[in-house]
Amino acid sequence: QVAQKDYDRERKVPSEFVVELAHARAMAHQDWIKAKTASDFSLFAPALTRQFELARRLADYLGYTEHPYDALLDLFEPGMRASQVTSILGSLREQLTALLRRIQNEGAAIDDDLLHQPYDVIRQREFTYDVMRRFGYDFTRGRHDASPHPFCTSFSSDDVRITADTQPEDLAYLLFSAMHETGHALYEQGISPQLARTPLAQGASLGVHESQSRMWENLVGRGRPAWTFFYPRLQGLFTTQLGGVTFDRFYQVINRVQPSFIRIQADELTYNLHILVRFELEMALLEGKQSVADLPQAWNDKMEAYLGVVPPNDALGVLQDVHWSEGLIGYFPTYTLGNLIAAQLFNTALAAHPSLPDEFAAGEFGALRGWLHDHVHVHGRKFTANELLQRITGGGLDARPYVDYLTAKFCDVYQIT
Ligand code: ZN
Repeated sequence: QVAQKDYDRERKVPSEFVVELAHARAMAHQDWIKAKTASDFSLFAPALTRQFELARRLADYLGYTEHPYDALLDLFEPGMRASQVTSILGSLREQLTALLRRIQNEGAAIDDDLLHQPYDVIRQREFTYDVMRRFGYDFTRGRHDASPHPFCTSFSSDDVRITADTQPEDLAYLLFSAMHETGHALYEQGISPQLARTPLAQGASLGVHESQSRMWENLVGRGRPAWTFFYPRLQGLFTTQLGGVTFDRFYQVINRVQPSFIRIQADELTYNLHILVRFELEMALLEGKQSVADLPQAWNDKMEAYLGVVPPNDALGVLQDVHWSEGLIGYFPTYTLGNLIAAQLFNTALAAHPSLPDEFAAGEFGALRGWLHDHVHVHGRKFTANELLQRITGGGLDARPYVDYLTAKFCDVYQIT
């Protein structure tokens, strides 16, 4: 069924249009680089206008019943509808902006200077590799290398590699990007060998993949239980830098909330607001309700409304991400969908194994990994995100568990009652 769907979809798009699309994307990418370097949106505007024209035509070729965005979203998140995403992200917008205001009004500011001191890179790697092994990454079927932007790539479930750079004066960078990529890698390493060399030997969707990376990076990797085990070890490696820093202080610092301009540097809470800005704008652009010429202003208005910050220039604003230049329209929401799915799956795993937090505090992560393997990883691409959620949780996509998780966590971090 999956192979047939892939095949039928490719056949719906004429070859000439595929050529046109590839050409326009290559040109748009070059224009985007020039525009971002000069921080001048007008250099990218014509190419972006064309990207959205082409996206509308692509949606027409692919076909849809409700909304052209459905056809585009389906390329990244099979079976998901724009209406489903609009309503879920809409409810998230109200609740997360309210939580952010509470943190800003009632919580004391947290500075993260202690993370930005000289930290020996060899020791950083030693510690990070230990975390990766404990999470379950199999170094005999993968490896870690350095690259400017972290990623995970799979050649087969027996060769799943990750990259993450080590920064000598930023303790958090390698550690949390490696945790994130380890989550992706566990998924790929866990796909059933019976699916090898078939179209099913990959993740279910971008959202489900991101649920795995964010679960290990945030729900586990930025949680109290895991650090109960890891922090004394980290302190032992970096006595000068962390010897006098209490556990509670360290926990607060790695969970600091700070609205900023750049999505990829955003904290766990405000990250979703960056996604909302992009999702709402790309929907409006696709529907013709937003003009490309006015996009920088619309971007800044939404940043101010949701995050309370206004980018000083287009490079730090509307031009920061590569995605639209590459025709990746319908892609951004998958990041937030991943967060929602992560919370839903984690709650279900916790109900099945109430001792998970105690195990994390003892450095044991095998029960969670095993549960994810049996319920998610092993199936590869057999089920869509909606089908997986239905099978595992008995319900559909739901923002409630994620909002509850964020509220409880950040009220604890910021000591808000
Ligand atoms: Zn990821």
